[in-house]
Amino acid sequence: MTDKVLILGGNFAGLNAALHVKHALEDDVDVTVLSASDRFLFNPSLIWLPFGKRTPEDITFPVAPTFEEHGVHFVNAAATSIDPDNQVVTAGGRDYTYDYLIIATGYQNKMDVIPGLTDGNAVTITTLEDAIKAGEAWERFLKDPGDIVIGATQSAGCFGAAYEFLFNTAYQLKRNGLKDKVSLTYVTSEPFLGHFGIGGLPHGEQLLGMFLRKEGIDAKVSVGMESVDTDAVNLADGTSLPFKYSMIVPPFVGQDVVKESVLSDDKGYVKVRDTWQTEKYDNVYAAGIAAAVAVPWQTPTPTGLPKTGFPTEVMARVAAENVVHQIKGEAPAEHKEFADMKAICVMDAGNNGVMILADKMLPPRKHGVLVPGPQNHAFKIAFEKYFMWKMKNGHVKLP
Ligand SMILES: Cc1cc2nc3c(=O)[nH]c(=O)nc-3n(C[C@H](O)[C@H](O)[C@H](O)COP(=O)(O)OP(=O)(O)OC[C@H]3O[C@@H](n4cnc5c(N)ncnc54)[C@H](O)[C@@H]3O)c2cc1C
Repeated sequence: MTDKVLILGGNFAGLNAALHVKHALEDDVDVTVLSASDRFLFNPSLIWLPFGKRTPEDITFPVAPTFEEHGVHFVNAAATSIDPDNQVVTAGGRDYTYDYLIIATGYQNKMDVIPGLTDGNAVTITTLEDAIKAGEAWERFLKDPGDIVIGATQSAGCFGAAYEFLFNTAYQLKRNGLKDKVSLTYVTSEPFLGHFGIGGLPHGEQLLGMFLRKEGIDAKVSVGMESVDTDAVNLADGTSLPFKYSMIVPPFVGQDVVKESVLSDDKGYVKVRDTWQTEKYDNVYAAGIAAAVAVPWQTPTPTGLPKTGFPTEVMARVAAENVVHQIKGEAPAEHKEFADMKAICVMDAGNNGVMILADKMLPPRKHGVLVPGPQNHAFKIAFEKYFMWKMKNGHVKLP
């Protein structure tokens, strides 16, 4: 009997894992992807959408043709329950049985982290729907400008997106002749500028400080948020920052289907080993943001970890290769800790940027460097085009 591999989620991790397994075993495996979204979303470009630099169509593509072309079954349905004892997942009222399961359902925003976020008093950019609303709010802001607060709450992990949006906002203010009329403030739970949720990199604090000073941006560092009103962000230190426009990055948590399963940690992420198998079930894996990774330090204000694209692809590949080993009757041979994966990322700043390179996601590291310069903006645009092409055409073995 052909083994059945079921994959939940069809974005960075899910698409990658599904095609890796299929390409390795071809007709000897039956691969099905169940995903809540029928489109691939290049989340890194959400930072540009509110400014009209990208449309939803520019940064998404339908996934069904990609999967079909590579012999993978695709079902556009959200999984509603996972029963690893009986090896069955329910989605759209149907049961799907499996021999091997890879959970790649990513994140959802934890908007109730502070009162006022769920009410839409500030916008966020971490999902396509949110970024569209952030763009509508930006249009209203341009007609009636005033002060701006951009930040990341306690326990947020996606600091790179907050910085990118901050510097892109500064760039847009200049383009709209508003730079000297509007005060721009960055609020972060990071213990220092440039921590990024990964412990910082050599000279990062000075570099980010220099970028902020150059743009005339004020910073409130190592501080939590108490609440957000319709016109002010209230900080844990008692300060209130009035705004006409505010974008806040909340913490991420796992999807409800994971949270309600026996596989979940307290944040709705799947507890895994370094083979990316779940702690309890040898035939169930998790990859990408859906997988639990412990924050290895305590900061005065809690911060989360960014599970970015590069490590997400590594997790998906390791999980897929281990599934292939198991189907061949071998032990899962691939091991990789999150901390040991490379950190490769570009922080865009409108018409400038910073390349972030490190031999390991988390310290201790041997090498880590931040390279500033306008070439990084051009690189990020080129990378967006390349990555969308790579995923759309299923070239998941390419870097
Ligand atoms: C604003 C922003 C900017 C970013 N910028 C960068 C960057 O510059 N560089 C970088 O490396 N990384 C960046 N990232 C991180 C990068 O986007 C993530 O690493 C990547 O999206 C993780 O992929 P994933 O497949 O694990 O999860 P996701 O991308 O969240 O995909 C999860 C998939 O699962 C589906 N799903 C959800 N629930 C269910 C369910 N119940 N059943 C079935 N399917 C389900 C979803 O529809 C989605 O298709 C950024 C993220 C954000 C939000």
